[in-house]
Amino acid sequence: MPAEGDPGHLLILGGTTEARRLAEALERTPLRVTTSLAGRVGAPVLPPGGTRIGGFGGVEGLAAWVTAHRVTHLVDATHPFAERMSFHAARAAELTGVPLLALRRPGWVPGPGDDWTFVESLDAAAALLPERGRRVFLTTGRMGLHRFAHLTEPWFLVRSVDPPAGERPPCLEVLLARGPFGLADERELLARHRIDVLVTKDSGGDATAPKLVAAREAGIAVLVVRRPPVPEGVPEADSVEAALARLTGFRA
Ligand code: NAP
Repeated sequence: MPAEGDPGHLLILGGTTEARRLAEALERTPLRVTTSLAGRVGAPVLPPGGTRIGGFGGVEGLAAWVTAHRVTHLVDATHPFAERMSFHAARAAELTGVPLLALRRPGWVPGPGDDWTFVESLDAAAALLPERGRRVFLTTGRMGLHRFAHLTEPWFLVRSVDPPAGERPPCLEVLLARGPFGLADERELLARHRIDVLVTKDSGGDATAPKLVAAREAGIAVLVVRRPPVPEGVPEADSVEAALARLTGFRA
């Protein structure tokens, strides 16, 4: 708990649109906010408030930072596929006694007309790809591209914020772009590249959902990589608004 008269210091583990929106909403409160980014993106869009960039050095490093900077509230607003950081946050919260809230957007749910296959991992998606299509739109991020590097057959359109480095499939085109992406553009992209299968993580949220609508309209198969597990017992909010309501006294 913060000392009397001290509004408190909230550390947001970020890297998502929701993390940025939460920092923006908290600007209107007395709470001091620091957002932490991993530093994966070359030129990140920085939120208001304080920011720090780069890993903490594991659980102990995070716990030490929380203590040294008198953090009073911890919010895990990392991406649903940032599985290590969510576990580190849970453990650091235990070690320091600082309350933790996880801001997790709901996953996507298929609707009528969708041709989705859920898979457990990028490797499982790669194993299924050759039988699913010849022209792949791969939207799972540049970090996992090596998982598809052995596939010589399908052609890949890879979309990422920064250029991919390291191993990659031989037949590919890279499209550098940062969301959100609109439906008209997604329709045009799928048609122009004659895409017949889309691969996505179950990231959830609105910013990248239009590709799923465009795929449904065009009758394109979608491989959806399931989310990794999250630490047990961490209170959750499924939206920025819900997170604000949980951070008692700091409603928008
Ligand atoms: P990860 O596997 O869970 O984390 C790997 C390491 O990166 C962590 O152990 C930590 O290093 C550092 N790290 C992660 N998030 C951090 C943060 N917010 N602030 C400071 N250090 C952080 O995560 P990842 O999948 O590599 O993702 C990295 C970042 O990109 C996350 O912040 C996430 O929100 C964002 N992101 C990820 C994806 C995705 O698909 N994975 C998609 C969009 C955005 P230390 O152990 O040294 O502290």
